[in-house]
Amino acid sequence: YSTTRVRNFSIIAHIDHGKSTLADRLLETTDTVAKRDMEAQLLDSMDLERERGITIKLQAARVLYRSQEDGEVYILNLIDTPGHVDFSYEVSRSLAACEGALLVVDASQGIEAQTLANVYLALENNLEIIPVLNKIDLPAADPERVADEIEETIGLDCSNIVHASAKTGIGINEIMESIVKYVPPPPPATGGPFRALIFDSLFDPYRGVIVFFRVVDGAVKKGDKIRFLNSKAEHDVTEVGIMQPQQVPVEALRAGEVGYLCGSIKDVLDARVGDTITLSSEYKAAAAKLKESKSEEEPIKPLPGYSEATPMVFAGIFPVDADQYESLRLALSKLRLNDAALSYEPETSGAMGFGFRCGFLGLLHMDVVRERLEREYDLDLIVTAPAVVYRVEQGEGEKKKVIVVDAPSKMPDKLRDMKIMEPYVRVEVLTPSEYNGKVMELGTERRGIFKDLKYMTPQRSSIVYEVSDITQGYASMEYQLIEYREGDLVRLDVKINYEDAPPLSTIVHVDAAQTVGRRLVASLKELIPRQMFKVPIQACIGVNVIASASISPMRKDVLAKCYGGDLSRKKKLLQKQAKGKKRMKAMGKVSVPQEAFMAGLQRI
Ligand code: GDP
Ligand code: MG
Repeated sequence: YSTTRVRNFSIIAHIDHGKSTLADRLLETTDTVAKRDMEAQLLDSMDLERERGITIKLQAARVLYRSQEDGEVYILNLIDTPGHVDFSYEVSRSLAACEGALLVVDASQGIEAQTLANVYLALENNLEIIPVLNKIDLPAADPERVADEIEETIGLDCSNIVHASAKTGIGINEIMESIVKYVPPPPPATGGPFRALIFDSLFDPYRGVIVFFRVVDGAVKKGDKIRFLNSKAEHDVTEVGIMQPQQVPVEALRAGEVGYLCGSIKDVLDARVGDTITLSSEYKAAAAKLKESKSEEEPIKPLPGYSEATPMVFAGIFPVDADQYESLRLALSKLRLNDAALSYEPETSGAMGFGFRCGFLGLLHMDVVRERLEREYDLDLIVTAPAVVYRVEQGEGEKKKVIVVDAPSKMPDKLRDMKIMEPYVRVEVLTPSEYNGKVMELGTERRGIFKDLKYMTPQRSSIVYEVSDITQGYASMEYQLIEYREGDLVRLDVKINYEDAPPLSTIVHVDAAQTVGRRLVASLKELIPRQMFKVPIQACIGVNVIASASISPMRKDVLAKCYGGDLSRKKKLLQKQAKGKKRMKAMGKVSVPQEAFMAGLQRI
């Protein structure tokens, strides 16, 4: 057995630059999937992914390719990576499972910030990068300019860059040949114990957790007992196999190979992305040896780079109808089986009733979870405004207390020796140079700290800011948490009809409190429908009302029609109206629509 004819690679591309189309093409031209069986965009299997055109979960595929150069058959393992910045940890692990990467850039667009971030991840993992200009069939394609840009920004030699069209098939063979020629084969086995890197796992209701991994050393086969180094869980393997891309069982998987295994694993937490798989027997033997020599070392060294995916934003999820609480709980526990990065715990609020406080990697992750809950589990939900995690520090030195605040309403009132710390991210925006001014305006508006402006080419710039507001819309840029810094922050509360509405609380900078308060009440006034009675809305800091507005009651003449008629007709009318309406949550006597819960997000 030798790995000289194995190539493990992934595709790095900005969303919409053609990664999925190219992957499909590679499978098709190698006859891995017969054309008639080919579902469009095979690798993105989740409906939601297809609709949104993003790749959420990693998948892998093994294709056989006969090289035109030497006539030999090569095993090419394509490991797909998710394209959004929310999932950058998963990207880094799937890249760590490869020796090379195709860098696919839309020849009519150019390189984007997220792509660049992933290229850096690939370079950190010592991957061979093969640049590909895609969509050269488009009239707007400008391969020379984009190739220049790639050379300038990454320093890759682009003199022989592949010109391709995943759509029409141009350049596909050239890409395959380049993979064979330039991506190095996996290093040979060292003879050490079995170690494999998990780059994905998913829950299958019939077979339990299926783990996708790259073998780094040794071998694994059916019947083995495995141990996950980080979670310390041990399980029996009932099947090992490869992805073609459907799962096909094989005898064993050896160093350099990519495959899956399943067994008695019931919880994705046992087998998280980035963890190292070992054999229980080898682990025990190594541990016994170490015990003899009284060494403190780890029996088998974990593969580098494991880290727990930590939620960056939190939001409350409540069923519109309290009867759906149990279904929501069940649905979350099921989603959790497939998504180790999703966290949730019960949250009860006087205003909202029973629901859950959920942690997400980012806003896209939050949206995906919400949509899956609503579509796949048929739930009507209210999601409160996402907020970052704040830290409150009290006292100094030994006596220092740190409180983690994952919901604005839980922020304590400010005391004298209390510091409120907020997370800062480093944001890099790549933009055509003509928009530099606009981007920098935006950066200043968001109280960003300007760090750097670079012209990558005369037409394209990179602008770097450090900012604290990371729940502002969808970043089409790359961001990275850098640290917590003290901020002059206050909790802004909302009262509707004189009753507290904690889910609408937000945390704002003291300087911005007035403006935000005024905007918030103004938009709530627009968003909350009229009631039978006048509804005052107030924004308060502590006991001080800093802004207020009121919603005037429904006009009598609208109701008058109902009063005359018989009661059942009126009821029907109201029911009909209610059905056609958007989701609402009764807070006190007032129905508050979903949009109002997001009103606090519109800041300055
Ligand atoms: P991904 O987000 O990177 O996976 O991109 P997709 O593969 O989903 O492609 C995004 C869009 O670009 C789709 O509408 C594709 O049909 C289109 N597309 C992909 N490759 C090409 C190409 O080579 N030429 C043209 N004209 N369109 C392409
Ligand atoms: Mg895609």
